Amino acid sequence: MEPFELFAIRYASKPMMTFAQTSIGGDLHEDHTPIDYFIWVAKRSDRVFLIDTGMGAETAKRRGESYHRVPAEAIRLLDLDPGKLEDIILTHIHYDHAGMLHLYPKANFHVQDAEMSYATGRCMCSPILRRGYEVEDVLHLVRCVYCDRVEFHSETSEITSGITLHRVSGHTAGQQAVRVWTKRGWVVIASDASHLYYNMETRAPFPSVYRTDEMMESFRTLFKLGEGSWDRVIPGHDPLVMARYPAPSPELEGIVVRLDVEPRQV
Ligand SMILES: [Zn+2]
Repeated sequence: MEPFELFAIRYASKPMMTFAQTSIGGDLHEDHTPIDYFIWVAKRSDRVFLIDTGMGAETAKRRGESYHRVPAEAIRLLDLDPGKLEDIILTHIHYDHAGMLHLYPKANFHVQDAEMSYATGRCMCSPILRRGYEVEDVLHLVRCVYCDRVEFHSETSEITSGITLHRVSGHTAGQQAVRVWTKRGWVVIASDASHLYYNMETRAPFPSVYRTDEMMESFRTLFKLGEGSWDRVIPGHDPLVMARYPAPSPELEGIVVRLDVEPRQV
């Protein structure tokens, strides 16, 4: 099986957060870490998958995020044309993962059944649960359902040889992880199933949570998918990802890292 090249692209960040902001029960006063915002690309000679689309500049400004680059433009750094992409996996539909879908007119979107139900159903009557969503992003995706551009998945599925999707709920109802076959073996994009290495490694749930019990179970699933090594699992928002993995070229330093090589220990 031909391996995929696998990349993370950092497009935004947030300044220092306290332990109370990064884990339930964490200290209110103790600084923990800044967080980064990523999209991911899995690329092979026959197929390309964009994993998440990030957010737009207007959303970032309104929500107080520090915005570095438009994700649809950033993928051009890897010689990809957003207008021609055919497959986009949405790990979930939160504003920082599923924005600006209109920039990908040819793409089919891969999403869990449970995520669409969650983002359009009764849970969205609760402000605390809907605050991670932008209604315009959700509406755009619903419109794509009506023109046959959404592929629904349930629990676990293989969308091509070398890419499997796994529902790892807890952060949202239909959060999914993406397991990608690379030259170093299987690598798992956890996305927000674990925001930081700290969350999954110490079983400390990030406070943005729909069901804590499911999130704890999903940490176990991630470990299994990573074949018993956290080095095979990539959290959704950890700045350590940029520190542990190398840039593909000097010009892309600080913007893109390769995830298909072994990490440095930092
Ligand atoms: Zn999220």
